[in-house]
Amino acid sequence: MISSKAYLLLAFRQRTALRPPTSSLLRPYLMSHSKGMTHPTSSTTNRYHSNMPPKLSENPKITCQCGTISLTASRAEPLSKYVCHCTECQKQSTSAFGTSAIFPSEGMWPFPKDLQQHIGMWARRADSGNTVECYFCKGCGVRILHRVIFKDGTPRPSLAVKGGCVEGFNLEGARHIYTRSALVPVPEGSEPGAPRVKP
Ligand SMILES: [Zn+2]
Ligand SMILES: [Zn+2]
Repeated sequence: MISSKAYLLLAFRQRTALRPPTSSLLRPYLMSHSKGMTHPTSSTTNRYHSNMPPKLSENPKITCQCGTISLTASRAEPLSKYVCHCTECQKQSTSAFGTSAIFPSEGMWPFPKDLQQHIGMWARRADSGNTVECYFCKGCGVRILHRVIFKDGTPRPSLAVKGGCVEGFNLEGARHIYTRSALVPVPEGSEPGAPRVKP
């Protein structure tokens, strides 16, 4: 968890970073904006005016349930997010679906030396023929992340971190996949099978 003091600091930094320029050229636009009008192409400005909490500007921590495993994500925001309704994720999560946040491997792989003895690995063959390496905490058994090895032996350059392990994780913009086995209602436009664009 992030301390309230650190959060305030982040919030301050974010506000400073997002403060719109106040040159006279932009003033008419800012005035119209302050009257409640929105500009369809300016998401930064919209976010500045929204009541949403500021996004994390530091890379989130990735932790297991017992706290033995603590990693730092390779960037502040994941490349993409998934809610996976496949039967493998149902088994793995012992629940209705799995969530994942995709981060670039670089900066996170290999695991830090002092953590390697605490991390176990179980591998399975996916329908695609790729191998999914599944890494978990030996202390509490929590699945931390998946790493895909393609059929030719090369690893996918990203890691699928289980959403519940990622500090501040949310499902904003997440894509629902393998919805043909979904146990809960899914948003329209979800993908019945594998994602059309691979993470
Ligand atoms: Zn653990
Ligand atoms: Zn799945």
